[in-house]
Amino acid sequence: MPYFTEEYGNAGTIYRPGSRAKSAIRKARDQVAAVIDAKPEEIYFTSGGTESDNWALTGVAESLADRGNHIITTCIEHPAVLQTCRYLETRGFRVTYLSVTPEGLIRPEELETAICPETILISVMAANNEIGTLQPLAEIGRIAKAHGVLFHTDAVQAYGQIPLSVEACSIDLMSISGHKIYGPKGIGALYVRNGVKLGSFLHGGSQERSRRAGTENVPGIVGLGKAAELAAAEMDSREVTVRDLRDRLLKGLQKNIPDVLVNGSLEKRLPGNINVSLPGVEGETLLICLDQKGICAASGSACSTGSLEPSHVLTAIGREPLEAKGSLRLTLSYQNTIEEVDRVVEELAALTKDLRSRSKLYEEYLSKHR
Ligand code: PLP
Repeated sequence: MPYFTEEYGNAGTIYRPGSRAKSAIRKARDQVAAVIDAKPEEIYFTSGGTESDNWALTGVAESLADRGNHIITTCIEHPAVLQTCRYLETRGFRVTYLSVTPEGLIRPEELETAICPETILISVMAANNEIGTLQPLAEIGRIAKAHGVLFHTDAVQAYGQIPLSVEACSIDLMSISGHKIYGPKGIGALYVRNGVKLGSFLHGGSQERSRRAGTENVPGIVGLGKAAELAAAEMDSREVTVRDLRDRLLKGLQKNIPDVLVNGSLEKRLPGNINVSLPGVEGETLLICLDQKGICAASGSACSTGSLEPSHVLTAIGREPLEAKGSLRLTLSYQNTIEEVDRVVEELAALTKDLRSRSKLYEEYLSKHR
């Protein structure tokens, strides 16, 4: 006789009620919450950062529509936030997109000025996914609280990498993703402060206390929980390792390649992020060449409709198209080695020299800037 349990449903297999899945999910909720000073019941498991962002924005918008229709975000958010804002604009909401300084940081006074009686939500990312810059969360939280506005942060890049406290920063909602902290792909979480009114995003069964329907991804949840526990336990040592590697890499690039422009603040930045522009080099070409050498990197350009669009983040910090197109993002892990870093410097120096020697764009850049 098959048992029918909350976690497994009737899969034709005999599972004992009160199964191990239930306690595994409970344990993961504790592990995920502990990293950010949250209570376990404030953590809701989702399919990842994209769902968490969509849920936070549309959920607040729907729940508080009778109070106001204004949302404030920044022009450098991940598409999971920006596209959701675009969607909400089609549903009658008004969105203010805050600008950023050349360092990639918002100006708190611009935020405060943008708040109006109709403002229901402020959504500002904790760390940028391209340039790694860290926004002043405590100050944003203070402003949001003073004006009685909910504060959501997309912390996909920051969670488990740097210390974060929902209490210290007065954060009401936080998006989290598993694969940025060495957890599985396709799992994430949304932190929702107790008492925050938030409509459901997925409707159906009673999972996640009826707020997020759908059978739980138990292996993903367990993996996220373990990854969160390890990230918290090793945060300090990982940070030191990664920062040292990052600094060595940047110094190596600056020593061996002329005209390396660092994108975004170096101080207020994720320890493992490097984003540089190498004017005169097409970022996409560089990526292909690096890939052939077994080096995995990213460019700030997005290949869309056959043309290479400069990244919205690099454009927002004031990079010219020529600089933005020659951007390269290298993300370091605590698992990387000094030897790998030195090899990247060597390969990149040779590739940049070769590509620039055949580039009219570099001549153009030099004639403009020297
Ligand atoms: N937000 C940020 C800042 C990200 O960097 C990402 C993914 O890279 C996401 C949201 C989307 O997260 P996921 O891939 O888990 O859907």
